[in-house]
Amino acid sequence: MAHDQPMDACSVPGLTPLNTALTQLLNEVHPKDEVVSVQLESALGRVLAQPAVSTLNIPPGDNSAMDGYAFHVGDQPLPVGTQLMVVGKVFAGHPYAGVLKTGECVRIMTGGQLPQGANAVVMQEQATLSAEEAPSPSIHLQVEVPSGAHVRAMGEDIKSGQTVLHAGRRLRAADIGLLASLGIGEVQVTKSIRVAILSTGDELKRPGQSLAPGQFYESNRYVIAAGLKRMGVEVIDLGIVPDDLSALRDAFAKANEQADVVMTSGGVSVGEADYTKTVLEALGKIAFWKLAIKPGKPFAFGHLPNSYFIGLPGNPVSALVTFHQLAVPLLRKISGADAEPPCRLRAIAKTRIRKAPGRTDFQRGVYLVNETGQLEVTSTGAQGSGILSSMSAANCYIVIEQERGTVEAEESVWIEPFDEILK
Ligand code: AMP
Ligand code: MG
Repeated sequence: MAHDQPMDACSVPGLTPLNTALTQLLNEVHPKDEVVSVQLESALGRVLAQPAVSTLNIPPGDNSAMDGYAFHVGDQPLPVGTQLMVVGKVFAGHPYAGVLKTGECVRIMTGGQLPQGANAVVMQEQATLSAEEAPSPSIHLQVEVPSGAHVRAMGEDIKSGQTVLHAGRRLRAADIGLLASLGIGEVQVTKSIRVAILSTGDELKRPGQSLAPGQFYESNRYVIAAGLKRMGVEVIDLGIVPDDLSALRDAFAKANEQADVVMTSGGVSVGEADYTKTVLEALGKIAFWKLAIKPGKPFAFGHLPNSYFIGLPGNPVSALVTFHQLAVPLLRKISGADAEPPCRLRAIAKTRIRKAPGRTDFQRGVYLVNETGQLEVTSTGAQGSGILSSMSAANCYIVIEQERGTVEAEESVWIEPFDEILK
């Protein structure tokens, strides 16, 4: 894996810009090709393995866009005052069986299928019904009606044979409805990938355990597991592993056997007292990166015999930011899903935001739309890489470009609203 990238004028030597790292890492991973069939009810968030092709026209036939009357119109519009005999009614699920003749119409409700021979609808408010006239009621048009008026054409939404969703689509609520409307009750999706997570560090304790001096409760595994659940991947939780050579070796070997991806936090920064690096280098082919982002400089990625390895930094905000910015796109690709580039918007900074040039900052902010419709963003305050409350308080990142320095209040910045992984 090449680390030495050409640097621009504002780059810090030895640090890799985030986008460079992401592009290189995405080239290193390949989608798993196992496919499973799931019922539509369980398909939300799963990734389509084959395109969904419609065998139907939607709507299946011409139908009415209004409550009114349906009839035939020739080349010329029917003029105001035209009288049409009401020969029947169309109810939902009960189309008119006959063929309409010139001078006839049927009562029709919104969505009702147009009878054969009909090609236009007049709204009920624009027709006068005269019930007395024999032999059956008739209407008089109050407006001129051209052919095609208030008609939803067959196949207007979807045509038979059309690909409605491509392979790689991560299914959303509306997609599930769309597939249902096409009569598709079961879909081929990629098999959920398995991600083993573990935390490393002698100082870490699980919530609920008692703390000795120098120990603290770990949070990374909880945050990462929550994010992974949002992604719909299968999580294998291997707990906390102490900074101990054989414990780490056993844990990584076990994780590698069970999972498609092994993800750790902690122990990836250079000059560590712990043994993560030693164990990983013996087990597989791992590269240790220094990313030009803040927070989140150290990051590791590589190949174990049976799995990919992703090593997140230990500091809680760094772990979450690198998980979100790097691990999520990698996991999406391994899952066979399309890339989903982050949504970034321009906003006015309402506070001064301190920054040194050289790395891309992912500061935490709260954005809102002010009374003039302008997006504004305010920093959550202290931005240390251990201050997890800043992520909890935020609803977006304030993404400040690598080369940029301190942002003054009222300057324009990029924000990245938190997506469903972080919400
Ligand atoms: P390390 O890279 O292992 O030196 O970790 C950097 C910092 O992150 C240290 O202060 C660790 O205590 C902290 N840290 C490591 N793992 C976790 C975790 N799972 N949860 C919370 N903090 C952690
Ligand atoms: Mg550590």
